[in-house]
Amino acid sequence: MSVKIRTSRKGRKCRHPHCKQILSIYNHEVFCHVHHGQLPQELRSKA
Ligand SMILES: [Zn+2]
Repeated sequence: MSVKIRTSRKGRKCRHPHCKQILSIYNHEVFCHVHHGQLPQELRSKA
């Protein structure tokens, strides 16, 4: 019997431009824990 655990894709990187943190498959956010909730200015100015 297998229990399906919802995971994100393996090997995703933090969306922050200068961050090379690999996100955990259990982390469904696009940023790592350091940049979580932060919007980089470089992305912000790109409208
Ligand atoms: Zn990051």
